[in-house]
Amino acid sequence: MVITYELGKSLYINITNRCTNDCSFCVRSSAGDNFGGLNLWLEREPTVDEVMEAVVRRDGSQYGEFVFCGYGEPMMRTDDLVALGKALKARYATPVRINTNGQANLICGRDVTPRLAGWVSALSISLNAKNAQDYQKICRSVYGEKALAAILDFAAKAKQYVPKVIFTVVDVLSEEDIRACAELAQRSGVDFRVRHWGR
Ligand code: SF4
Repeated sequence: MVITYELGKSLYINITNRCTNDCSFCVRSSAGDNFGGLNLWLEREPTVDEVMEAVVRRDGSQYGEFVFCGYGEPMMRTDDLVALGKALKARYATPVRINTNGQANLICGRDVTPRLAGWVSALSISLNAKNAQDYQKICRSVYGEKALAAILDFAAKAKQYVPKVIFTVVDVLSEEDIRACAELAQRSGVDFRVRHWGR
């Protein structure tokens, strides 16, 4: 079971395959059980202790960043994620990033952004659409068209607790849509990055 994997100088941490979206471009569909030679489908979700053991086995201190990402939405396991993040922070000086769909407050039914304070260095939030209708068409959230407004609100709130909050879009979108997303990010006061599809 692949709990951790390396990409560049970062150690990626795969804690769940669950997600509230079903994005049309998701690498889970296109890469299946072969993501760069790795099968990121988990037989079961690893416990907090198992994840820590996996990081320690790799000597976590050699990495420039820990990234919660993997084949799913890490904030489906917000309680475990917070416990893990704090354990990592206590053991290593390494910055921690979460790659997220930004729906944690919907998932948890309350504002969980204060729980990110003190251990999350960066939040990379998938935006991928300029309006609620497009978002639902592309990302197919279980929350329907209310997802995008919740994502924008999550990002605004998270900025109080996390030093770096970035909206990302994948480069499969049209140039016009990418421009519109960049404007939306700017209006929200959140940094913006175009991400190469498949990473
Ligand atoms: S949010 Fe991420 S993991 Fe979830 S379906 Fe979309 S691309 Fe896949």
